[in-house]
Amino acid sequence: MNTLFLYNTLSRSKEEFKPIKPGEVGLYTCGPTVYNYAHIGNLRTYIFEDILRRVLVYNGYRVKHVMNITDVGHLTGDRDMGEDKMEKGAQREGKTAWDIAEYYTRAFRQDIAHLNIIEPDIWVKATDTIDEQIALVKTLEEKGYTYQTGDGIYFDTSKFKNYTKLSHQNLEALQEGARVEKNPEKRNATDFALWKFSPPDTKRQMEWDSPWGVGFPGWHLECSAMSMKFLNDQLDIHCGGTDHIDVHHTNEIAQSEAATGKAFFNFWMHGAFLIISGGKKMAKSEENFLTLENALLKQGFSPLAYRFAAFLTHYRKPMEFSDEGIEAARNGLLHLQNQVRQIATAAVDESDVTANTEFKNKFLQAVNDDLNMPRAMAVVQEMLKSTIADSEKYATVLDYDRVLGLNLDQLDKAQPLPQEVQELLEARKKAREAKDFATSDRLRDEIEALGYMVQDAKEGMKVIKK
Ligand code: AMP
Ligand code: ZN
Repeated sequence: MNTLFLYNTLSRSKEEFKPIKPGEVGLYTCGPTVYNYAHIGNLRTYIFEDILRRVLVYNGYRVKHVMNITDVGHLTGDRDMGEDKMEKGAQREGKTAWDIAEYYTRAFRQDIAHLNIIEPDIWVKATDTIDEQIALVKTLEEKGYTYQTGDGIYFDTSKFKNYTKLSHQNLEALQEGARVEKNPEKRNATDFALWKFSPPDTKRQMEWDSPWGVGFPGWHLECSAMSMKFLNDQLDIHCGGTDHIDVHHTNEIAQSEAATGKAFFNFWMHGAFLIISGGKKMAKSEENFLTLENALLKQGFSPLAYRFAAFLTHYRKPMEFSDEGIEAARNGLLHLQNQVRQIATAAVDESDVTANTEFKNKFLQAVNDDLNMPRAMAVVQEMLKSTIADSEKYATVLDYDRVLGLNLDQLDKAQPLPQEVQELLEARKKAREAKDFATSDRLRDEIEALGYMVQDAKEGMKVIKK
């Protein structure tokens, strides 16, 4: 097996990836908070995670992928202050929190289908694991990590050694900085809620009984409970966007390792943000965000153009979104599709040809170098422009497409040549065989008038849509 290197936020370095169980990988990716549409920034992170999953499979691993749906407990402020995003979304739209969750979960699944992102093997809603989350809080309570305040049960971060091992932050500076947003009852500014009580004067739509009183789980708890439930002894890779490093993932690690006494995930990987050109951050809470619908579909861009665009910036670098950028990506994708259409015609009768070993290895080396997609895309072009036979190019590009996920195997089926063009092409072939070049040229003009371009290559005639 070729060595796969992945950048681990824990060590701040690229490390050789080795799963806990040989041949199998447990992958956990933090999922959406379903109180609004996903924006294209969120979707960039899901594309990065999809590439990771596909690269693992390309390397021969079996992957068990779990993703949560946050349908309760994520508050508008960091560090357990503010309103519940779901209940707030429900008020905004005059629906129940449950309806909001269902509606935006469906929208999210549509978005990822548009982007050809493979669905996780297991989806879990936070509200479907309340029992497991309560059990985790009980364990932490028994082990002496919790304390109660007027509004909930909190995790005492001072009792967990190495609280900043993921964020690499200076704890003292952090305590000082975090003091600004105050909950005077917290023992340390970094402490976080495991269970929040329902406010005494309001009836929440989503609330449950617990040993400590009616309430709802703290946001970080679901990911710990779910990953331990579904991945148990395969806690290999945990991912999310870089915004999750300092609080969400740091707290997941603290509460999970405090509860089990064991390492919680060996690899932590984080995707950098999408920014709107000019440097503005996109966030769901600021109502300025672009969805797949308004940024792409309504402008006539295929969602796959966005997927293609995401390949051109390494996942650990900020990616800028602009109209020119997406247009360039669209053209790049169209160009690639045309290149593949041409070789597909030549490869029709040679379906037993396999990927070219040298170019497959080059591609593998690029993706195995911490998912270096810009380099992988350069290898795709190098291969397509090389002198290997078209049938071999076609087999190789389809092999690459297991990682790229651009549906390159469906181009011909999606756009078959019209009957009329096919007939003209046949007639032109005969004319050329008979060396009747005048007829051949006339037929070429007729084909071009129908919107197709004919190229005479060594291996035969090629037709491309103009
Ligand atoms: P949320 O639905 O807010 O919980 O976020 C879903 C995922 O998107 C998480 O992995 C976040 O870290 C990630 N994310 C949030 N904003 C951005 C952004 N502007 N660019 C890239 N990823 C983001
Ligand atoms: Zn999470």
